[in-house]
Amino acid sequence: ADAEPPLRMLLKALETVVKNPKKGDAVVYWMRMEDLRVSDNRALARASGQAQKDGVPLLVIFIISPQDHIAHDRSARRIDFTLRNLSSIKASLAPLNIPLYTKIHTQRRTLPALVISLLTHWRATHLFANIEYEVDELRRDIRVCELAKENGIGVEFFHDRCLVEPGKVLTKEGKPYTIYSPFQRNWLSQINSNLSWLDEAPPPSPNPKSVHEDPAFKILFEAPIPDVVEGFECMDREEMKEMWPAGTDSAKQVLIRFLHTKSRSSQLGAVNPLSPGAETSDKKSRAASYKDMRDRGDRDTTSRLSPYLAAGVISARECVRQSMKLLGVTKIQATRDTGVGMWVMEIAWRDFYTHVMAAFPRVSMGRPFQEKFAVVKWETNEEHLQSWKEGRTGVPIVDAAMRQGNKMGWIHNRMRMAAAMYLTKDLMIDWRLGEKYFMEILIDGDLASNNGGWQWSASTGTDPQPYFRIFNPYKQSEKADPTGDYIRYFVPELTKLRGPDIHNPSASAAAKLGYPKPLVNHDEARKRALRRYKTPGDE
Ligand code: FAD
Repeated sequence: ADAEPPLRMLLKALETVVKNPKKGDAVVYWMRMEDLRVSDNRALARASGQAQKDGVPLLVIFIISPQDHIAHDRSARRIDFTLRNLSSIKASLAPLNIPLYTKIHTQRRTLPALVISLLTHWRATHLFANIEYEVDELRRDIRVCELAKENGIGVEFFHDRCLVEPGKVLTKEGKPYTIYSPFQRNWLSQINSNLSWLDEAPPPSPNPKSVHEDPAFKILFEAPIPDVVEGFECMDREEMKEMWPAGTDSAKQVLIRFLHTKSRSSQLGAVNPLSPGAETSDKKSRAASYKDMRDRGDRDTTSRLSPYLAAGVISARECVRQSMKLLGVTKIQATRDTGVGMWVMEIAWRDFYTHVMAAFPRVSMGRPFQEKFAVVKWETNEEHLQSWKEGRTGVPIVDAAMRQGNKMGWIHNRMRMAAAMYLTKDLMIDWRLGEKYFMEILIDGDLASNNGGWQWSASTGTDPQPYFRIFNPYKQSEKADPTGDYIRYFVPELTKLRGPDIHNPSASAAAKLGYPKPLVNHDEARKRALRRYKTPGDE
């Protein structure tokens, strides 16, 4: 692991903060980008418990920090989704007389001081939050601990994002795993030995009604959630609202849709995942057919929960609890035998990449996990990069994937891989440029999963296999889109093509349809990639 990862430093800093602060006039829960929910939220539950114990009101704050969003390349869609979820949270907290106070703060450096000054202003002596594992956020929280200590404020942070807290899944030698399969086995056995980790955190208790009359807190109820954050105007807000409705109730419906309802081919391009489809095309539920169908881009068989999981609108625990209920089991089954079991293994990938980021923070700072690949020679071809972004590479499956991302803010997993592999291995363009672009368009953009996915595709990450992990995009296309419906949906120029032509149109057919020629020849590009990875640093 990297020298003294910031997560360990934060945990140490937490040991030094004031343990039993004097009772104050309020308790504060600081909600962050990844825990946008009221139910099953550990920090919120504990903050509420403290407020009850002290007999003081619970206040919820959310700080919008545009500089952090810029630093993380967060998309306007993700910011808009955040605001929409905050509105839903404010509405859920209102009947409990709990205010949600949202504030835009433009200087990220002074954010810890702002939070502490809010607490001192309200004479609050307890601060609660869930941990964010990105380096900048961990450093920010270390500073929060220092300032809190100086001001006699108690701070408690909780692990809430993953099913198993980062730092807990270790090899026999006490080291973090760098390969998924043994990680997943250890992860599973730990959860099954500690099933209370899956317990639902209790909902917050209501504040007394009188809090509305308190002049110090009244204004918090009245402050509106901003409609937009300057610099993050979401141009397709209405479409995003329709496709990705906000709120935990919506997320729960999306989960039910996956676990209990059948896939409908009419919903391929995702319209609102909750709207009824015209016809039912599968015999089994999405979850049941996940085992065989999950890689099919031409079917709508995956959960589409990633925007909700990335923003914490639903907890990963809830997803697993519901999966267990469906299977009628008391222990988690992450196996390849059932669709639901396979699905739980995907949730384990989410944990894996967060654990990797926490143990090896360099991956989130633009460094390859495999340092030897830091000197791989990349092409700088603006035109190729632009064509890839716009979905005009002349390789239908890659273009469909990119257009899906541009249109929906979400891409099917297999197609993310195909698009990422094509950028890094066929066009030999630096994975960091692709990683950044995905963050800029995705509504589910998540640093750990996106970075993990990109480094996996570029073979610079954990468990790299550059010598044989070079996808042939045309073969991928035949496997992931055997009907061609996915390509036809997102690349309308090719709607008329039938049969195998859809995967690799002939030059004459493409010219007739106004579709571009492939930017590179795959076989030649493959040889170039192998050469460059074999002797990184050389031409
Ligand atoms: P399902 O198949 O239903 O899976 C359920 C959940 O498991 C997902 O919602 C997600 O939370 C998690 N999951 C599934 N696969 C992975 C995976 N490979 N890595 C980590 N978590 C996973 N996922 C993001 O959430 N945000 C990203 O920014 C992101 N960027 C990616 C970039 C690349 C290049 C690649 C190859 C993958 C990326 N992924 C990302 C992972 C994966 O593609 C998406 O999580 C998945 O496609 C979301 O669709 P779903 O919710 O229907 O997934």
